[in-house]
Amino acid sequence: MKFYNTLTRQVEEFIPRQEGKVKMYTCGPTVYNFAHIGNLRTYLMEDVLEKTLRYLGYDVTRVMNITDIGHLSDDADSGEDKMLLGAKREHKTVRELAAFYTDAFFADCEKLNIKRPDVVQPATGCVDEFIRVIEALMDKGYAYKAGGNVYFDTSKVAQYHKFFNFKEEDLEVGVREGVDEDENKRNKNDFVLWFTKSKFEDQALKWDSPWGVGYPGWHIECSCIAMKYLGEYVDIHCGGIDNVFPHHTNEIAQSEAYLGHEWCRYWFHVLHLNTAGGKMSKSSGGFLTLQKLEEEGHSPMEYRFFCLLSHYRNSLVYSEDTFANAANAYRKLKSRAVALGSEGEAGGEAYERYKAQFREALENDLNTSLAVTCVYDVLKDKELAPAAKRALIAEFDKVLSLDLLKEEEAPKAGAPDAAYIEERIAARAAAKKAKNYAEADRIRSELAEQGVTLIDTPAGTTYKL
Ligand code: AMP
Ligand code: ZN
Repeated sequence: MKFYNTLTRQVEEFIPRQEGKVKMYTCGPTVYNFAHIGNLRTYLMEDVLEKTLRYLGYDVTRVMNITDIGHLSDDADSGEDKMLLGAKREHKTVRELAAFYTDAFFADCEKLNIKRPDVVQPATGCVDEFIRVIEALMDKGYAYKAGGNVYFDTSKVAQYHKFFNFKEEDLEVGVREGVDEDENKRNKNDFVLWFTKSKFEDQALKWDSPWGVGYPGWHIECSCIAMKYLGEYVDIHCGGIDNVFPHHTNEIAQSEAYLGHEWCRYWFHVLHLNTAGGKMSKSSGGFLTLQKLEEEGHSPMEYRFFCLLSHYRNSLVYSEDTFANAANAYRKLKSRAVALGSEGEAGGEAYERYKAQFREALENDLNTSLAVTCVYDVLKDKELAPAAKRALIAEFDKVLSLDLLKEEEAPKAGAPDAAYIEERIAARAAAKKAKNYAEADRIRSELAEQGVTLIDTPAGTTYKL
C-alpha cells in the first residue's frame, strides 16, 4: 500500500518494520468538550486507513491516548489548561469532565462505525512513565529545569524540524500576538515536559515528582503512551494536520532523544474540515457536533459517506448544501443496495475484477472516493448476478463501514411517538428545575418502561429508543 508520508513529503510504499505487522499510534481527543465533526473527520479517515491495512492482511495494533491533562489552550505552553477551563465552565471536577467527554467521544465513534483502537490510554494513568522518561532526558542532558518547570532543550537535537524546512522565525512559539513569551525557555521552541510553577494555582490534578508537585506537558504523553504499548518503534503515527507543529515535531524530538534512534518512519495526517468561515475548532465555539447533525434529521452514516467522498489530503469544506447533497446520495445508494436480491452466485471474472479495482483504489494513497465509485459500478453492472453484487458490497463495507446492506430496524411496536417523548422530557426538566427530583425520576422510569432511554448532556436531554 502507498500513502503520503509527511516526513518525506511524498507518496511512499508502506513497509512496516516487521513483516505483516503494523504498529499504529493515533493522537486521541482532548476531552474537555464534545468532538466536533472536524475532529471526527480525522478519526474517520484514520479508521479507513486502519481497516484498509487489515483488509490487506496486516495484523494491526492501534493505540490511542486520551488527553485529560496538560493540553493548554495555546498548542504551545501558554494559555490555560483546556481541561481546567472546561471543568470551570461546567461546574464539574476535571475527572468528571474527562469521563463524560470520553464516553461522548466513543459514543460518536460507535455511531460512525469507527472501530475502537486496541488500546485506549488516558494520560492521567501513565504519570509514572512520564516521570521516568523525563528523568532519563534530564540525565542525558536533553532537558533542563527553569523557573520551576522542566523544559526540553531543542538546541540539543541535531534536527528539530523533522517535517519541513521551516524558517525558524515563521514558527516562533510564545511570541504570537496576545501570548506571553515564556522567559524560562533557553530557545524559543523549547517546550514544557513537566509543570510545577504553573500560573494556574488551582490546577486540579497534581502529582509528586523529582522536580516538585506538578503535572505533565501535553507532548510527552503521546511519546510515552506509544512506547509503553508499542515498544521502541512505531510504524505509522496519525493525527490531524495541525498536529504537525508543534505537537508531532516535539514528540519526535523527545522520543528520539530518549531512544537514541529513529522512532517512526511514516506520518499520516488528515487535512481539516473547514466551514465557509475557516477551520472548525472547539475553541472558537461555533462548531458542529454529530448530535447536532442528528437533531437536524441526518444519520451518522451520511456524515461518514460525506467524508469518504473526498481525499484525506484535501481540505473539506462543510456547507449545508454540500452535506445535504451527499446525504441524499447516500440514502439513494443504500436503498439500491438493500433492495438487491440474492439470485445467482458470487464469483467469476467480473467479480474478481471489481475486488481488485476496490483494492487498488485504497492501495493508491487511500482513494476513498474511487472506492465508493466501485460500489456504484457494481450496482449498475447489468451482467453481474444480484448475489455477486451483494457479496461485493459486503466485502467493500468491511473498509467503508457505511452499513450499505443493513436493513433499518422498524420502530419498536408500541414505542411512544416523538412528540409525546419531547413533552415528557420538558415535564421532567420542569420538575428538576422545581427541585422535584422524585417526579423527574418517575418520568425517567416511566419512559424506560416504554423502551425510551433518556440521555442527559450539557446541551439538554436526548433519547434513544
Ligand atoms: P483535539 O481534541 O483538539 O486534541 O483534536 C483531536 C484531533 O482532531 C487532532 O488530531 C486534531 O489534529 C484534529 N482536528 C482538529 N481540528 C480539526 C478540523 N477542523 N478538521 C479535522 N481535524 C481536526
Ligand atoms: Zn499526540
